[in-house]
Amino acid sequence: MAAIIRAETYYRRPSTCSIEAWDAAPPSEKALIYLESVLQLRIPRPDGPNDMQTWARIDAGRWLAECPTDGCHSAQVISPLDPRMTCCRCFAGWSALLVPADPDAVEAPLTSLPRAEQWWWADDDPANPANQQPTYPYPPTEQFVRGEQQ
Ligand SMILES: [Zn+2]
Repeated sequence: MAAIIRAETYYRRPSTCSIEAWDAAPPSEKALIYLESVLQLRIPRPDGPNDMQTWARIDAGRWLAECPTDGCHSAQVISPLDPRMTCCRCFAGWSALLVPADPDAVEAPLTSLPRAEQWWWADDDPANPANQQPTYPYPPTEQFVRGEQQ
């Protein structure tokens, strides 16, 4: 049994951050404090929300969201209880996270699975495999069936 990892437990306080500052930071800002330490760079704090949103999902046992900026695809461990993220790659501002109303209920059926099998997408998330079109030629061509085409 493995609990789903949230930002609250994933990010750890770097020695450069006081306990008081760490405890006062919401999970989305703990991510920035931690990433600044690991990446050895300053991440500008957004002035406020941007007009973008992105889906939260469970990805190999972690709550995760991808930056919604076109072409960025940077991802972060997030908290479903602090529904915002900013990107440490493109500094796009605070993007709203689309999170389930009851994240505990989403996590419950997954906790008995091995971490590698803990996956969840919102029904409306375009990245949900149920919403994906096949990437292989459909119907498969003779070349694809013979393995001559990827
Ligand atoms: Zn980004």
